[in-house]
Parts: sequence; C-alpha cells; structure tokens
Amino acid sequence: MYTVTDPATGELVEEIPNATDDQVRAAIERVHHGYLAWRSRPVAERAEIVLRAAELFAERAGELAEIMTLEMGKRINEGRGEVGVVVDIFRYYGENGPALLADEPLELKGGNAVIAKEPIGALLGVMPWNFPCYQVARFVAPNLVLGNTILLKHASICPRSAAAIERILRDAGVPEGAYVNVFASSRQVPWMLADPRIQGVSLTGSEQAGISVAAEAGKNLKRCVLELGGSDPLIVLDTADLDETVKVTATARMRNCGQSCNAPKRMIVLAGLYDEFVDRLSKRVAEYYVPGDPGDPATTLPPLASIAAADEVAAQVTTAIRQGATLRAGGHRVEGPGAYLEATVLTDVTPEMDAYYEEIFGPVVLVFRAENEEHAIALANDSPFGLGASVFGTDPERNRRVAKRIEAGMVYLNKSGGSEADLPFGGIKRSGMGRELGAAGIEEFMNKKSVRL
Ligand code: NAP
Repeated sequence: MYTVTDPATGELVEEIPNATDDQVRAAIERVHHGYLAWRSRPVAERAEIVLRAAELFAERAGELAEIMTLEMGKRINEGRGEVGVVVDIFRYYGENGPALLADEPLELKGGNAVIAKEPIGALLGVMPWNFPCYQVARFVAPNLVLGNTILLKHASICPRSAAAIERILRDAGVPEGAYVNVFASSRQVPWMLADPRIQGVSLTGSEQAGISVAAEAGKNLKRCVLELGGSDPLIVLDTADLDETVKVTATARMRNCGQSCNAPKRMIVLAGLYDEFVDRLSKRVAEYYVPGDPGDPATTLPPLASIAAADEVAAQVTTAIRQGATLRAGGHRVEGPGAYLEATVLTDVTPEMDAYYEEIFGPVVLVFRAENEEHAIALANDSPFGLGASVFGTDPERNRRVAKRIEAGMVYLNKSGGSEADLPFGGIKRSGMGRELGAAGIEEFMNKKSVRL
C-alpha cells in the first residue's frame, strides 16, 4: 500500500493500493516499447524536453514543496530549496547533454576510432523518501537525455511526489513510453529486475535494500548503481571562529531533520578544541532547534518522515546511552502524535557501542575527541561507510593533505555536504557504487561503443 500520512500529526491522509503484477508487467512493456522511439529522437530534442522540465519544476516548486511537507515532514523552505537543485540538475543535463554525448575521437596505434555514447534501454529506478524530488532528478535527467527510458518505483510514503513528477515530465513533452511511474511494492522489485526488458537499476536507499537489489542485479547480469547510507565524518582541525564552525556544522547535521545520506553524522574534533566545541554545539542544538510545524517557514525542527522513523532513531539513542554514551542535549521523543525527536548530541561513543558503526538517520550528532591529526583520520576511516566527509581548518594545505587520506567518495573543505548539479556524487565501501551528477552521472547506463574507423 502507498500511504500519505502527515508526520506532523500522525494523521492518515490517503491510501493507494499497490500495482498488481499485471499492471507492473504492462508498465515494463511501455518503457521497453517506448525505448526505440525515444532513443531515435535527436539528442538535441531530448535535451530540449529536459530543459522544458526544468522550467516546469521551477514553476511548480511551491506545489512540490507542499507535497513533500505533507508526505515526509520536510520544512517548507527546504522543500523549495530542494526543487531549486532539481531545476539545476535538469538544466545542467539539458544544456550540457549534447556535448557530453558527442563522439569521442580516439587515435590508435594503427588508425582511428571513436567512442560513440549510446543508451542501453529501459531502466528501473527505486527511490527513497528523504529527498523525493532531488533523488529522482539525479537518475532521470541524465538518462532521459542519453536516450534510456525509465520505470520509476518511488518510496511507498511518497505517492503524491511520484505522481507530480510524472505529470511534470509528461507536460514537458516526455512521451508515455519514456517515463512511467509505477506504484510497485518492494517485493515486486526482484522480478521486475529479472525481466529481460529491463537493462539496469539505480537504487537510492538503505544498505539492506542495496544488498537485495545488488544480489538480484548480479544474478541477472544487470548494471546497477547504488546510492546507500553514510555516516560521514566532519573533522575540525582548527578554527578562527568557533561559533561560526559550530553553527555551520549543526546546520549541516540538522538539515532535512538529520535525514540526509551525506550529512556529517560524526564530528571529529582535535583535543584542544573539543571541550569548547561540545559545550557550544550542545547549547546551540538545545536552544535553536525547537519542534514545530514544517509548513511554517520559521520552524527549525520539523518531524522525522514517519512515526516509525522517529521511534527507530529514538531507540538508537536510548541504546547508545544504555551502552555508555553521554547525552549532552535532547535525546527524547517529543510528546504528542507527531514524529518529533529532540535534536540530540551524544559524546563518548566507543567502538563497542552500536552507534559507533551504524548510520543514525535523524537529528543526532555524535562528537569524538581526536588526540591529533593522525588520530582524526583513523577515526574518520573507522566506518563501514564511505560516502562523504568534511575537513574544517584554516590551513588549506593541511586540509588537502587530510582530505587525501579520507576513505570517501566526496570530501568537502570548510563546507559540509550539499549537492551541485555538476559535481559527481557517490560513495565507496558500504555507501554504494557508481556516481550520479556531473559528467560521470550520464555514463553509468551508457554504451560506450568503440567504432573502429
Ligand atoms: P529504503 O527503506 O531502503 O527505501 C528506499 C527505496 O527502496 C524505497 O522505494 C523502498 O520501497 C525500496 N526498498 C526497500 N527495501 C527494498 C528491497 N528489499 N528490495 C527492493 N526495494 C526495496 O530507504 P529509505 O529509508 O527510503 O531511505 C533512507 C536511506 O537512504 C538511508 O540509509 C540514506 O542514507 C539512504 N540514502 C542514500 C543516498 C545516497 O545518495 N547515497 C541518498 C539518499 C538516501 P518502499 O518504500 O516500498 O519500502
């Protein structure tokens, strides 16, 4: 069942039954059948349609933000900001797609060749609820320009976002067979993937979903991109303005109510600054983040995406405390029907505790003391994940040196997380495989065909 439940009130708003197996099979047939027509359109035409989609996303930003606020509790301003990034992504691929897809000449020892950049067919997208529009954009915009067609299974708590996105693409001129939203259940995903008409899959979501989809993709020899969880480190080496660093890092962690894959979830602070950093961060988190209506632009702490998510994160915090972590701020579910959890700071988390290695997908900051630069790097790398990382410090050379030694797909210097249309995004280790965005993002489901001249 796809359900819309307002996480601010716990009220059930709408239920939509899952697609039947026959409906899913018909949806697969549409994108399979649509592929030949879509791929034979000139690249410039596909790019033009993607540019039109960018304009429609911009026009409907308010409507999309309201849907996200209702479905998963995103603060209304953050929703508008998310759609702004979506517009950038569609524009980036609309404007740069034709150049990115131009033949690449190759001089060989004994002659010449070109690498032709061609699509591979119908793809399946499986998307999460935390950025209902942005996650879809990262996968869909480059692949539509490339000439692949897309069958999209969105998170089961985001049916209205899913429908609104499909409407925008259709209104922009994406034909029926080039993009199809299907309200499939996650149980239908394995056989969808096994269907010979589907050539690849892109999943953004949890590690567990990634394992299951990767296994199925492997079994069926399908290409796969996995954008999974993270527990990004943020190293503070030194600072000229501690208050500013505390504010910036707290903002980065609390964005999207802590439900960002590449939020800095582990602050690693050098010993000389640690005590002061923890005190100021705890004060900032306790005073600034006040639970409120996500539809009110003044709200600083919205609900989590669902009651289940809030309960799960609260349980992770309780377990950490029981196992010996120190609670510095927050730590409790907010009384009432909504999915609220106080913004929380934990310290003294050690490798024996579950919280040390797991992803905490909510408004919870862990702070670690590092004795020196070497120790900070060791702590940063002591994680099963490798999505992003940040280094804060006043010496650019030192920042670069530390960044080079961090095991992650992305490192940000004196900045945390975020996403830009032209900057490749993705992780290593258990954070997944493949890249989205930038030039790299259009290559994942591409046939780089060698043509010997
Ligand atoms: P999730 O529970 O894994 O769900 C993601 C999508 O996968 C949903 O459409 C879900 O469908 C589907 N799904 C779940 N289990 C599946 C299975 N066994 N087989 C096939 N499909 C399955 O993840 P989430 O809770 O929505 O998202 C949060 C996670 O995503 C976090 O771990 C976060 O770090 C990660 N994330 C990563 C990135 C990145 O770029 N690396 C970006 C955003 C989020 P249903 O909704 O129907 O269950």
